[in-house]
Amino acid sequence: TVPVLSVCGLSVDYATARGVVHALDDVSFELASGETLGIVGESGCGKSTLARAVVRLVDPSAGTIRLGEEDITHASRRQLRAARRDIQMVLQDPAASLDPRWTVGELLAEPLAIHRIGSRAERRGRVADLLRKVGLPPEAAGRRPHEFSGGQRQRIGIARALALEPKIVVLDEPVSALDVSVQAQILNLLTDLQRTLGVSFLFIGHDLSVVEYISDRVAVMYLGRIVELGDRDSLWRRPAHPYTRALLDAAPRIDGPAVPTGPGLSGDTPSPYDLPTGCRFHTRCPIATELCRHEAPATRELSPGHLVACHFPDTGAEPSSSARFGSG
Ligand code: SF4
Ligand code: MG
Repeated sequence: TVPVLSVCGLSVDYATARGVVHALDDVSFELASGETLGIVGESGCGKSTLARAVVRLVDPSAGTIRLGEEDITHASRRQLRAARRDIQMVLQDPAASLDPRWTVGELLAEPLAIHRIGSRAERRGRVADLLRKVGLPPEAAGRRPHEFSGGQRQRIGIARALALEPKIVVLDEPVSALDVSVQAQILNLLTDLQRTLGVSFLFIGHDLSVVEYISDRVAVMYLGRIVELGDRDSLWRRPAHPYTRALLDAAPRIDGPAVPTGPGLSGDTPSPYDLPTGCRFHTRCPIATELCRHEAPATRELSPGHLVACHFPDTGAEPSSSARFGSG
């Protein structure tokens, strides 16, 4: 079957006063129907640029984006409007993206009106239905977004994103601004919605426990590139890329098997204006060699669906590393 979203060789360059920033470099992945792909990395790794590029809020400098079989890489404004029925976005702070003068009912009905879906009365019915889906009372339709708590506003943002029954919702740090207990409620809501609606999520986050909780598969990004991609459990159990290992080492873990104790992550992220030669992680990698400084590693498939871009990935094959895992 055709993936709902296919991204191939996607690059985004920004021209700035200080020079060109290669925010995204040769990023490829697919999103299947009803799955959640988490995108994780430190700030500045390009994950938000990726989110904005797949909904065509920024223009790619290379590569292709397909919704199902439709290539939207260079879609016109009119074509994009049609595509927006299939792909919607939820941002970190919905208050910032929702017009404070509008009622919630108006905000939820607007996408339907733009796409000329239903009569006015039918749209009111749809709004009530959307509110129920995200766990808000029907009376919420008459109030304004600022009258709600952060978690409730995020429910409104999710309801608005779902109004057109999209196949894909891109969520850019949707719970990062919320208290931990509210985060859990929103994550559970997303999981429930996915189960009942079959929608696919591209979930951008920097909190590893959040990404682990919500994702079926995870892509790890560093300085504009995907350095590792695989199903969540194998990535967490056996991270192959030194950067993934360092991220997991640094993250607090509540339960589950201990990850190998590595040297963690040292040094600063290099400037995006002056990217390291060869492997971009070599300035911080504990096992970097001369080869790493000169040659960018190709992406290879360690096992079915598990991709890594490293000259020396931890395959778990050598005795020293299996002993390490065994003793965990
Ligand atoms: Fe480290 Fe070399 Fe792998 Fe890059 S290619 S992550 S520098 S071992
Ligand atoms: Mg961001």
